[in-house]
Amino acid sequence: MTVATTERLFNFSAGPAVLPLPVLQQVQQELLCLPGAGASILEISHRGPAFEPILAEAQANLKKLLGVGDDWQVLFLQGGATTQFSMVPMNFLTPGKSADYILCGAWSKKAIAEARKVGAVNVVWDGSSEKFTRMPRQSEMRATSGTIYMHTTSNETIEGVCFAEDPDLGEVPVVCDTSSDFLSRPLDMSRYSFIYAGAQKNVGPAGCTLVVARKEFLARAGGEKLPVMLEYKTHVENDSMYNTPPTFAIYVINLVLRWLLNDVGGLEAMHRRNLEKSKLLYNAIDGSEGYYRGHARSDSRSLMNVTFRLPSEELEKKFAKEAEARKLDGLKGHRSVGGMRASIYNAFPIEGVQALVTFMDEFRKANG
Ligand SMILES: *Cc1c(COP(=O)(O)O)cnc(C)c1O
Repeated sequence: MTVATTERLFNFSAGPAVLPLPVLQQVQQELLCLPGAGASILEISHRGPAFEPILAEAQANLKKLLGVGDDWQVLFLQGGATTQFSMVPMNFLTPGKSADYILCGAWSKKAIAEARKVGAVNVVWDGSSEKFTRMPRQSEMRATSGTIYMHTTSNETIEGVCFAEDPDLGEVPVVCDTSSDFLSRPLDMSRYSFIYAGAQKNVGPAGCTLVVARKEFLARAGGEKLPVMLEYKTHVENDSMYNTPPTFAIYVINLVLRWLLNDVGGLEAMHRRNLEKSKLLYNAIDGSEGYYRGHARSDSRSLMNVTFRLPSEELEKKFAKEAEARKLDGLKGHRSVGGMRASIYNAFPIEGVQALVTFMDEFRKANG
C-alpha cells in the first residue's frame, strides 16, 4: 500500500464523501493517460471518441442498476441538487397548476422555498413540529386533487431520517430528491416519475447531478420562456451534451457504477451491506442506556446518516475531538441540529463503523 492509502482516515463526511478505494486507484492509474485516448480524461473533448462511450456506459449502467428500460431518460446535469429545486417547478409547475410537497427536513424545506417562487405549493405533510424525527406514514401522504406532482425527499441528510418504503401515490407523479441515499438500496421505480441526486454524497465527486425520469413525464414540461440551460428539453434533446458536461465527474461516476455492479453485486447486495453497517451503529446507540440518544425515530432511521446526541454539548465536543485523534473524521453534526452525525455511505467501510462503535463504548465508560 502507498503512503496515501495508509494515511486515509475513516471519513464520516456528509458530502463530498468517501469513494470506493478501487475507484480512486483506477482514477489515479488512468489520470495521465486514459487507455486508448492518448491524454487524460481531464484534457479530452466531450465530443470525442474516448468520452462518448463513457457517457453511454454510465447511462446504461445506471439504468441496469435501477432496473429501468428505454422509457426512462438519464441526464447528467450541473448546479447540484439545489438547481433541481428550481428546475422542477420551473418546468412542471406552470400557471394555474399546483404541486404537493412533503416537508420532512432541511433539504425539503429548501425545495419548497424554491417552488414557492415559481407557483402554487401545497405542503401536504409537515414534520417540523416533531423536529423532523420521522418521515410521514403512507396514510399521511394524501395528494391534493389536481396536483401536478408530489415532491418527496427519500433521505434527509441533516436530520438522518429516511423513508422505510418507497411512497405509493398511485397515479400522482412522484418527484424525489434522492441525493443522500441514491443507489444505497433498490428503488421501486414504478412508484416514481422523476428522481434526482447530487453525485457527491453517494455516487461520485461534486459537480454532477443525476436525473432519472420517465420520458412520458419529461414530455409534460412546459416553461417555453426558460433559459435554455434550465429546460429539461434542452438536455433531453442533446443527451446531456448541449454544453460541456462535467466530464471528469461522469467518468468517476461510471467507475462507481461499475463497482456497484461488478464488485458489490447490485443494489440488493449494497442494501444488505448498508443494513449491516447502520445496524451496528443503531445497536450501539440503543444499548447505551440512554447515554447516546438517536435523533430519528426507529421507523425512520437513515441507513446513510446516523444522527445522535450525547448528554451535553461539552461531551459532544470532547467526543468529536477524541474521535478525530483516532482517525474517525467528520462526526460533528450539522450546525442546525447539533450533536453527532456519522455519514456511512455505500463506500464507507464496515471497519470504520466497528471502530466508531468501539470508541463510543469506551467513551461512554470513561465519561458516563
Ligand atoms: C446535499 C443535498 C442537497 C444539495 O445538493 P447540492 O448538490 O449541494 O446542491 C439536496 N438534497 C439533499 C437530500 C442533500 O443531501
